[in-house]
Amino acid sequence: MLRLENVTKTFGTQKALKDITTTFKDHETTVLVGPSGSGKSTLLRSLNLLERPESGLYDCDGIQLDFAKKITKKETLAVRQKTEMVFQDYNLFPHLTVLKNIMEGPVHVLKEDKKTAEKRALALLEKVGLKDKASAYPSQLSGGQAQRVAIARSLAMRPRYILLDEPTSALDPELELEVLKVLLELAKEKQSLIIVTHNLEFARHVADKILFIEAGKVFFEGKKDDFFNSDNQRIKDFINAMT
Ligand code: ADP
Ligand code: MG
Repeated sequence: MLRLENVTKTFGTQKALKDITTTFKDHETTVLVGPSGSGKSTLLRSLNLLERPESGLYDCDGIQLDFAKKITKKETLAVRQKTEMVFQDYNLFPHLTVLKNIMEGPVHVLKEDKKTAEKRALALLEKVGLKDKASAYPSQLSGGQAQRVAIARSLAMRPRYILLDEPTSALDPELELEVLKVLLELAKEKQSLIIVTHNLEFARHVADKILFIEAGKVFFEGKKDDFFNSDNQRIKDFINAMT
């Protein structure tokens, strides 16, 4: 379980997160939605300690932190082994083949032997439908393929939670679909996913839980059906504006 309690994050005078308390359950897909600038990215990045809130409590699968106190390097590394971020712009190593991109973390961080890492990398490539691209370089991939490699690379680290911030916003619709299919598959397999997206149609398919953030606060959290069938005018307006 990943839990935030009374988490606050301020940029200068801008309060990006105001007293956020929420729990992300294991083996569930949580989709974060909300208007632009509402704090979704800040919240997601805080889960991975890419952003450092000034106060609040954090519990990542038993690693307990108090944001008001010093967080050690060791704690940061431990959190990052549990949470793997997939970036919008893929962040693949341009000088490494697709296969080597996926093997890099397992070999150098997890200290897997090369044979094992290669076997797993190939299996993960197969899972995302790209086994034939193992020896290609990132520059030879389409955006959708690059994003699928990035997802395979995050899976290779065996994280408890995969965090995705608008994973398909840089992609054309047909390329977006191939990435969404992979994420749907992972959700079905009960990989814990936390996804920021503007694509409510996708949210409707993939989410177990919806977290609706507005102006740095949790406006709604609950089951997907309760969100999409909500009587709340603000939620109805948001859904109408987005679809
Ligand atoms: P969202 O992802 O929902 O669009 P963000 O989390 O990116 O929202 O931003 C929330 C608020 O925090 C916005 O007002 C944004 O301008 C501000 N913000 C985010 N990151 C920074 C930063 N690095 N420096 C200053 N302000 C920031
Ligand atoms: Mg954002």
